[in-house]
Amino acid sequence: MTVHHHPPDELLGAFAAGTIDLGQHVAIATHLVGCAKCRGAVRAMEHVGGAVLAALPPSAMSDGSFEALQRRLDEASETSAPVQRRGRAFSDVPGLPDFLGSYPDSSWRWIAPKVHLRPIRLPEPSATRVFLLKSSPGTRMIEHTHTGFEMTCVLSGSFVHAGGQFGPGDFDLGDGSVDHDIRIDSVDDCICLVAMQGDLKLNGVLGRLLQPLIRM
Ligand SMILES: [Zn+2]
Repeated sequence: MTVHHHPPDELLGAFAAGTIDLGQHVAIATHLVGCAKCRGAVRAMEHVGGAVLAALPPSAMSDGSFEALQRRLDEASETSAPVQRRGRAFSDVPGLPDFLGSYPDSSWRWIAPKVHLRPIRLPEPSATRVFLLKSSPGTRMIEHTHTGFEMTCVLSGSFVHAGGQFGPGDFDLGDGSVDHDIRIDSVDDCICLVAMQGDLKLNGVLGRLLQPLIRM
């Protein structure tokens, strides 16, 4: 996977410093799982919190951690309670990072022609909503603006807009100044993880008709 579009440094810095909310954190962590370059940048920044590490691939263990793990395994084997195995959520979504599999699952719902949305319910309140967006090949997203920011992580498929082509691993940041005219140019569905604050404003007659339907 070659990543061409990355979050801006200020966002990676805010992530490393732990000053962004959970919804934004999930979007940046999703990008980091697939982007060694940005993982390196974040590691180089100080104050990397434990939650960040939990979202990243395993690294070298610290002194004593093996013994601690062994102790926990010993304790676990002494208990007679059966191990509860729950299915991983979103297991049907290609390209979704493993850490999201522990969140509550949800189902796709229609929001516009050829476009489906699947909410990701965060374990704690966040000003930023997170959801998956699935668009069929050839879909042109309705022209829109937003009142807040919008972070998009491509999981599978691809789209193009004035800023270039965005494929798996790519990160796109939109804000109120951007008028997106997006076209899905992949052969298969394009699935993105989106973290969004504020409202999406659809332009045009069709947009105004659909507006009540896309409230989340
Ligand atoms: Zn990156």
